[in-house]
Amino acid sequence: MEQHPVCLSIGGSDSCAGAGIQADLRVFEALGVHGCSAITALTAQNPAQISRIEAVPLAQLDAELHAVFDYYDVACVKTGMLLDGEHIATVSAVLSLLHKGKPLVVDPVMVSSSGVELLDAGGRQTLLKSLIPMTTLLTPNLDEAAILLGRDVENAEKDSQILMQQLGCAVLLKGGHAEGDVLRDVLYETDGRISVVEHRRQGWNRDAAHGSGCRLAAAMAALLAQGEGLQTSLNAAIHRLFPNN
Ligand code: PLP
Repeated sequence: MEQHPVCLSIGGSDSCAGAGIQADLRVFEALGVHGCSAITALTAQNPAQISRIEAVPLAQLDAELHAVFDYYDVACVKTGMLLDGEHIATVSAVLSLLHKGKPLVVDPVMVSSSGVELLDAGGRQTLLKSLIPMTTLLTPNLDEAAILLGRDVENAEKDSQILMQQLGCAVLLKGGHAEGDVLRDVLYETDGRISVVEHRRQGWNRDAAHGSGCRLAAAMAALLAQGEGLQTSLNAAIHRLFPNN
């Protein structure tokens, strides 16, 4: 059996490996956890554009999830691109049986930075109804937070609190899509604790930006898998992803 904690990433495959499952597995490896995956969709993409998306059959997704849970004691699950309500329902059904009471990090991937929809409207409803109630930590970027709030983010501290209260889970509002040289990530926990981490953009271009939200959520999952709390995980995740800050 695996000696390192096991982290499962559920999401889409990115052919250029900047985001999605491939990015998550690299982060897991770098942070010392054994990464497994269950794939919802195959994407043909590079940092500039997504040219094609092919859904993975639900039976295949279900079989991948069971293959991992049958063999491994999964310490933490992280979800990314879930595509639609049917894929979310498949994921939720397995997690509610086999991942009860363990950390679940949900990156509510909805639209790519190149503007392609990665979760349809029905999927958003299913996400709210079936996956969010199981979620430990939700990691929206500013665009996803705006969709969840129904308006633009005005104040990251206040709006992360509003999302935490509405959704009932901790919220890490990722600042990567904001303007300016200093990025602010705000963590609002369910006990009311708030942590704000600021870090400089480093060599920020389209390649570096693509998948940056996936990588932060994956790093949070890897640290939670090792038993760290949310605040410690955030500080350690930023330190590992942005080592020169
Ligand atoms: N493709 C996949 C498979 C993803 O999981 C994500 C984000 O999670 C994206 C694309 C979008 O990445 P970005 O918006 O950083 O380009």
